[in-house]
Amino acid sequence: MKTILLIGLGRFGRHVAMKLHELNHQVMAVDQDEEKVNRILPYVTSAQIGDSTNEEFLASLGVRNFDVCIVAIGDNFQSSLETASLLKEAGAKKVVARAARDIQAKFLLRNGADEVVYPERQIAVWTAIRYSSDNISDYIALGDDHAIFEIQVPDNWVGKTIGQLDVRKRHHVSILAIKQNGHFAMTVITPETCLPANSTMLVLGTNQNVQKCFHI
Ligand code: ATP
Repeated sequence: MKTILLIGLGRFGRHVAMKLHELNHQVMAVDQDEEKVNRILPYVTSAQIGDSTNEEFLASLGVRNFDVCIVAIGDNFQSSLETASLLKEAGAKKVVARAARDIQAKFLLRNGADEVVYPERQIAVWTAIRYSSDNISDYIALGDDHAIFEIQVPDNWVGKTIGQLDVRKRHHVSILAIKQNGHFAMTVITPETCLPANSTMLVLGTNQNVQKCFHI
């Protein structure tokens, strides 16, 4: 269980809070808008109304005691930047800030943020990849070059073993798991694993190799 300070309770911050609640983490939520703070109360351990660009207010939160501080302020970049910077100055262990543009990410990383999340861009990339092929059900980017794709088992692979297909040597990708009806059916893959019909595979590789292998 982690202790998390979450600042900014717009749509994005609210989703973060609800997921953290589901995962049983201890969250203190902060927003300057009383209504937003009241709405989040069922999902968080504690909450405070206040301006995170106010140094005294921020210091009163005991920033050092949190494992992670998440700055989920979006539109008001000035506030987001000041908050990230003040958090770091106050001794925050890890500051994660939300960016909407490359330039914002750059400034945040230079001014207190240890890591940046970029929801619009990340979801835009996912949407483009997911819906530009009928065969892809999911996609997780791992850095710039590598990704895990969830892909339908091609018809001509059904009933064959991983060893027969010689997937790694011939296609330079690794099959990590097999899913059927949306659930994991096999998570230990060996050369003897036989690929079933009507199933999907989680495939790890460079974007280029996966695209080449599955003609996507
Ligand atoms: P979202 O895109 O997540 O829906 P939004 O567009 O509604 O957000 P933003 O300006 O991105 O609004 O701000 C997100 C939240 O952060 C808002 O609830 C806002 O009240 C809060 N916020 C903005 N600046 C501060 C600040 N300095 N201190 C505390 N809360 C702030």
